[in-house]
Amino acid sequence: MTQESPVIPYFRYSEICGVDQDRSLSLIAGAIKRGAFILQDELVQFERALAAYVGSRYAVGVANATDGLELAFRAVGLRSGDEVLFASHTMVATAAAIHFAGGVPIPVDIGADHLLDAGRLEAAVTSKTRAICPTQLNGRTGDMDAVLTLAAKYELSVVEDAAQALGSKFRGRYAGTFGAAGVYSFYPAKLLGCLGDGGAVVTDDPAVYGRLLELRDHGRDAEGEVVRWGRNSRLDNIQAAVLAARLEELDSSIATRRALAATYRRNLENIPQVVIPPGPDGPDGDHWDVFQNYEIEAADRDRLRRYLAGHGVGTLLPWGGKPVHQLRRLGFDQNLHRTEELFSRVLMLPMNPSVTDEEVEYVSSLIRSFYR
Ligand SMILES: *Cc1c(COP(=O)(O)O)cnc(C)c1O
Repeated sequence: MTQESPVIPYFRYSEICGVDQDRSLSLIAGAIKRGAFILQDELVQFERALAAYVGSRYAVGVANATDGLELAFRAVGLRSGDEVLFASHTMVATAAAIHFAGGVPIPVDIGADHLLDAGRLEAAVTSKTRAICPTQLNGRTGDMDAVLTLAAKYELSVVEDAAQALGSKFRGRYAGTFGAAGVYSFYPAKLLGCLGDGGAVVTDDPAVYGRLLELRDHGRDAEGEVVRWGRNSRLDNIQAAVLAARLEELDSSIATRRALAATYRRNLENIPQVVIPPGPDGPDGDHWDVFQNYEIEAADRDRLRRYLAGHGVGTLLPWGGKPVHQLRRLGFDQNLHRTEELFSRVLMLPMNPSVTDEEVEYVSSLIRSFYR
């Protein structure tokens, strides 16, 4: 009798989002019973808990992180035609938010850790540059000292796309809290997922906070008077209730991801055809990575991917295989050599709280035998 080989999908939505199904259902039932759906207590409580978790003064729940970024750019005063520098290895959402806030998204190349290369920012600064939007990709917070130094030199605002980095830190400080505002996503597959779409913006600046509250609610102030153009982009009360409960388990789910990353590292670090991501550093290191994703570089990537699929292992190409600056139909025409080189080799391996250590061992052994 042959042993059945395991099946390891890239993500298990119903398993991961259904772990606490009974609790979620009772929170939903409670909200229905009280008729509490929009801008109610659970939202306020979640916003407080989120701000306390990352150490920011304020948090504002929004419909999703894409909206959160757009509102954050508007709240920090981006004006029509202002240029915003961002890493091309990010979701198109980052650039779309800049675009819809009236700005011009300017993609910049990446460094060895796949994040915005701060050393390349300065060359991209023009008289129109107004802001930098670093994406804290894959659960890693980049070298923010370098970004903040450059931002100070040219008087640029920093808005962090921390959609993939809630809980991640650089030198003890949480992703999302370095600049004028930071944005998290609660899409189900993100580190802290809700049962649908959700997002939040954090800031320490009372003026930015006030504008965010208005912008997400039709431009209405606390008295209900319309004081500016606004959007409807509120985080549902039901989602906020689920998120508040799940936030309490975020650190343990991060610990699981970091342990899986350590196992991947042990197994893959000596394979010459594979480059693994940095970390996990220990608690005293500069980077506290939370491994939203485990993104490797692999020689002969497409064949490896098919080989893994043939053995039941799901993998993913980031953004369907294209960085933002290659979305030519959006008007981008840059060439960014390092990003392009990476995208011929990049591959995302299963990494989420439903993955077991044995499964990482299995995936790793397949990769070893592929290159043997
Ligand atoms: C998921 C993601 C977004 C968008 O988040 P939504 O909540 O789905 O709008 C933006 N940027 C990055 C880097 C992301 O991974």
